[in-house]
Amino acid sequence: MKISDVKFEVKRYEYHETFHITGSSRNIAENIEVKLFLDDGTTGMGEASPSYRVNGEIVSSLVTLESNVKEMIKGLDVRDYAKIFNVMDGLSKSAPSIKAAVQYATLDALSAEIGLPVYRILGGSKDTIETDKTVSIDVLEKMVQKSIETFSQGFHVLKIKVGENLKEDMDKILAISDATKGAEYVVDANQGYSPKEAIQFARFIYDNGINVKIFEQPVIWNDFEGLKLVRYESPISVAADESARTKYDAYNLMKDDCVDFINIKLMKSGVSDALAIIETAKTANVGLMIGCMSESSLGINQSVHIAAGTGAFVHCDLDSHMLIKEDKFRGKFTQKGTKLIPS
Ligand code: MN
Repeated sequence: MKISDVKFEVKRYEYHETFHITGSSRNIAENIEVKLFLDDGTTGMGEASPSYRVNGEIVSSLVTLESNVKEMIKGLDVRDYAKIFNVMDGLSKSAPSIKAAVQYATLDALSAEIGLPVYRILGGSKDTIETDKTVSIDVLEKMVQKSIETFSQGFHVLKIKVGENLKEDMDKILAISDATKGAEYVVDANQGYSPKEAIQFARFIYDNGINVKIFEQPVIWNDFEGLKLVRYESPISVAADESARTKYDAYNLMKDDCVDFINIKLMKSGVSDALAIIETAKTANVGLMIGCMSESSLGINQSVHIAAGTGAFVHCDLDSHMLIKEDKFRGKFTQKGTKLIPS
């Protein structure tokens, strides 16, 4: 069926607790819901969670794109979803989160029309995925307490935010690992270290036998050489997040051997580039994780279906819906502890 209308709606969410990462502290998230209407009354939903920090996106300017997007895709049939994906690729640089929401809403509408869940349209590789949960930057005592609490909730992979102070970060990660024996960690510096600091941090972690599986975005996004240096000097796997927005970024990082992992986020890449990065990473033997911005359950749903459908991710960091206050759960998945099961 053909697309007859497109509507954007801004939604505001409060965080349960201040979410503090290197260079950013926030209490609210503003997302844009995208609703597609088909000729026969079928609808499809997507959610954009724009990021100024990573993408340079501003909500008030993104909402003005509603009429342009409608103009671009009205009359297209969701069964020809590649046509809609191609049109939306034009927003890769200026509005990647809107691109993601419209592309996903297209798949959601197609799913409703043919009666097949999105994760099965994408291949149905897995029936279940598992997520970690994030501990954001705070004083040492608070981070340890939060880590214990999260670990005791059953999250055996904790994502620990670091990057603002190397010495304090060393003390924190050591204290956290002492207090949560048996846990695994992903550490994310969100571009906060110099390459030298990042190498020191990685060696400290290794020397102390701390069970860190992935070291995310140690250095500034545009320092590919620095990333590569850290990768080869670090005993721990290094991942690009802010450095890898589009499939072109990801390709260049892989071609130049800069990373062990890429953290794919739909809000940086949309569905189309996410799928391209997956195939390139498989070809290059680079590991993949999937992450999120500040999506509600509606937006996390998108990544759950992509992750399960493609089965491409060794690690999932899909927890933002647990960090914000929502009136109503709207994912087409069920959550049992750490497990996310698409339906
Ligand atoms: Mn990250």
